[in-house]
Amino acid sequence: MDKIQMVDLKGQYQKIKPEVDAAIQTVIDSTQFINGPAVKQFADNLAKYLGAKHVIPCANGTDALQIAMMALKLKPGDEVIVPAFTYVATAEVIGLLGLTPVMVDVNPQTFLVERKNVEKAITSNTKAIVPVHLYGQSCDMEPILELAKEQGLYVIEDNAQAIGADYTFADGHKAKTGTMGTIGCTSFFPSKNLGCYGDGGALCTNDDALAERIRMVANHGQKKKYYHSVIGCNSRLDTIQAAILGVKLLHLDEYCRARHDAAQYYTQNLLDVKGIEVPFEAGNSTHVFHQYTLKVADGLRDALKKHLEENGIPSMIYYPLPLQEQEAFHFITRTAESLDNAKQLSTQVLSLPMHTELTRETQDYIISTIRQFFE
Ligand SMILES: *Cc1c(COP(=O)(O)O)cnc(C)c1O
Repeated sequence: MDKIQMVDLKGQYQKIKPEVDAAIQTVIDSTQFINGPAVKQFADNLAKYLGAKHVIPCANGTDALQIAMMALKLKPGDEVIVPAFTYVATAEVIGLLGLTPVMVDVNPQTFLVERKNVEKAITSNTKAIVPVHLYGQSCDMEPILELAKEQGLYVIEDNAQAIGADYTFADGHKAKTGTMGTIGCTSFFPSKNLGCYGDGGALCTNDDALAERIRMVANHGQKKKYYHSVIGCNSRLDTIQAAILGVKLLHLDEYCRARHDAAQYYTQNLLDVKGIEVPFEAGNSTHVFHQYTLKVADGLRDALKKHLEENGIPSMIYYPLPLQEQEAFHFITRTAESLDNAKQLSTQVLSLPMHTELTRETQDYIISTIRQFFE
């Protein structure tokens, strides 16, 4: 058995090497490294895939979130509600723009923010909500969207971990994560479900005027070259990365399926182990398993991690410290309620190797090593 990895990017590349290599070579031959035709082509194809009107590529997922807040003209003093249990990027851009991040708790079973958490945190200064589709599953969006409508708030979906997931509304219609709010933001960081070979990101919206404003903000605040109407930034997806993503997008559904199959196999074989809780799958969302994350009980998480490590199995803690305890946020954070679930989850979560190339043989070894620990 090869060395076990959290993510196997090499095995995935080898299967599509001829297509990817040809796509990269085409860009090099054209020398259109910035804003070459592959960028628009990929954006159009991703829009089609997602069922969204506009996809605007940018340099990374963090930029996507920042550009979203700039395009919505959020100003210092405005409050933006974020889950306390997420990657730092979600809240970082809020602080960076001088806005106030307001952290709220998450559901301990799904790890996701819900309407009832958000509701308690709304004040007259609240302008936006950032639901994070953490680990690859959609937040329960319908109640959040209703709340946002009632209160006149923007919804900025952080879809960095869930691209490809489907949410089902009460009336049965489905939508892809990232297309339901005012703006959806995603990342093409190599280990994400749709990853390139460097940095990349995108925003997605169904609003024509907003799409135009997003393009302007991401391009130095200009619509016409050298005429700058607002302070913007410089955030582009490289043509080479767009070409690679164009190839990988064709495989995204197959990748989602592979991850889901691997997750099912873990779950079937770990469900009865006392001391761990397997991931909860909500009825109204598909789960694309960016991470397969266990909850480990009774302070055993770190010992299990060590046991896995001693047996050559990597595992990761996403995330060891909730946002409210991060030093960077001490001075600007406002919290509306206790963040006990976020705090407790940070001591319980453990993500197992999860990628598109995981073999049953590897999974069997991981499963038996976990079972051995609890025997
Ligand atoms: C990866 C990630 C981001 C940031 O994406 P980058 O491309 O690394 O800037 C933002 N939010 C979440 C939840 C992420 O997982």
